[in-house]
Amino acid sequence: MTAQALDTCELCGRSPLATTVHHLIPREKGGSLLPTALLCKACHRQIHALYTNSDLVVLGLTTLDSLRSDPQIASYLRWIMRQAPGSDRSCTNQSAYEANVNLLGSRMKQVLRGE
Ligand SMILES: [Zn+2]
Ligand SMILES: [Zn+2]
Repeated sequence: MTAQALDTCELCGRSPLATTVHHLIPREKGGSLLPTALLCKACHRQIHALYTNSDLVVLGLTTLDSLRSDPQIASYLRWIMRQAPGSDRSCTNQSAYEANVNLLGSRMKQVLRGE
């Protein structure tokens, strides 16, 4: 047993993060010995939320290139590539970020006033 290594997601390209093995051709469709991709949990979850294993085969989404060019996955990727690795809670991060900006803003006013 090895600890889960931190890696680069082959779909969104974010790193370092923990990856999971995605069978590009679902095992139940005979893909157990066929190519796999290392995907972060967010990408992996997204693919399987959008498509069933049958959809993936029927739509030909069995390579990383075809996944990337799928309109629904492409728009997901545009969003996820702006998210920090390891964070699935972008909303929480967004308000934490805004709180930080406000804090910096009031610090800046104090500095400008010489406080
Ligand atoms: Zn990813
Ligand atoms: Zn998978």
